[in-house]
Amino acid sequence: SLTTVAAFDRIGEENAFAVLARATALAAQGRDIVNLGIGQPDFPTPPHVVEAAVKALRDGQHGYTPSVGILPLREAVARDLNRRFGVEVDPDLVMIVPGGKVTMYAAIRLFGEPGAEILYPDPGFPIYRSMIEHTGATPIPVPAREENGFAFSAEELLALITPKTRLIIINSPGNPTGGVTPAEEIDKLAQGLAAHPNVALMSDEIYDQLVFDGLEHRTLLAYPEIRDRLIVLNGWSKTYAMTGWRMGWSVWPKALYENVRKLAVNAWSCVNAPTQFAGIAALDGPQDAVARMRDEFDRRRKLVTEGLNALPGVSSVTPKGAFYAFPNVGETGWKAKPLASALLEETGVATIGGPDFGVHGEGYIRLSYANSAENIARALERMGDFLSARR
Ligand code: PLP
Repeated sequence: SLTTVAAFDRIGEENAFAVLARATALAAQGRDIVNLGIGQPDFPTPPHVVEAAVKALRDGQHGYTPSVGILPLREAVARDLNRRFGVEVDPDLVMIVPGGKVTMYAAIRLFGEPGAEILYPDPGFPIYRSMIEHTGATPIPVPAREENGFAFSAEELLALITPKTRLIIINSPGNPTGGVTPAEEIDKLAQGLAAHPNVALMSDEIYDQLVFDGLEHRTLLAYPEIRDRLIVLNGWSKTYAMTGWRMGWSVWPKALYENVRKLAVNAWSCVNAPTQFAGIAALDGPQDAVARMRDEFDRRRKLVTEGLNALPGVSSVTPKGAFYAFPNVGETGWKAKPLASALLEETGVATIGGPDFGVHGEGYIRLSYANSAENIARALERMGDFLSARR
């Protein structure tokens, strides 16, 4: 039989896709499913963005583009960052990639090899650990704790750096917790990294426009002293409801850019041309749809947090960003994964067990509130009935 290289015995998955498949299968059998499992906006892409792609197709934009993305799009990314954060970014250090995930893939490929250590958030996006293990590097989890609102502690993170550390991954606002790391902690991290000039940092800022309670996102691009080893991951998926278009952007240090360009040439050539034109329209066009989606997520965030805290055995800190709640279910008498699975099979409510996001995820489940207020209310009611009957 065919066997593949050992690296594929060490590659993981994102269980959210398996839960989505199971929820879809149950729905096909006629079950009434409320899907709070998958992490994607339930809004359509803003119409002017769709129109820009249609126009690009009609205008004959059917060919390859430069591997790093078309210059007007990279310039639009730089303008957007300047408008929002006052930072200067060279468009020639911006890379357009087929989804935010691809930046993660490239960064971990650049630094991952046996003997290398890579720090990553736990609970965190499952692909970080999966890709680290795939490269043979050693994954070093940095805990995100409930008592800190699921923010990481710079002190705790810096203490995990060893001579083998090659790359640190951070993610704020965070998936799966909705945690936002306070600006002071980001300051401390940037300062602490001065002592480790050979360690690279990847800041996953894909939820940067989804922060609530008057908080402001603090981008790592605001620290010129670490630009020479900073990779910033971002994209259109979550902000502009474009998960299915498959495009993201990243900013790279000059020393890494050429290698990522070559990886693009080898692996994906470029992002499809019409989507790149849609990306320009999204960044340069009116931002009112982004504000509307954010307000709607905020409203649901309050609904879901209040509803979760009223459930027997469940408590939830108020998430400050992204569109996830990460309630503590330790007092329900259930382990997190069996609970998530029973909720789906018995009540039709899809959630994800916390252990799918790391060892520090036991005792929690993730709910995505990228669903209508009505569906959120239905899900909470079913969860309440289930937990009252089955504690
Ligand atoms: N980073 C985080 C923290 C995410 O939650 C996700 C998507 O769920 C991504 C990156 C990937 O985004 P994309 O769909 O653009 O690949």
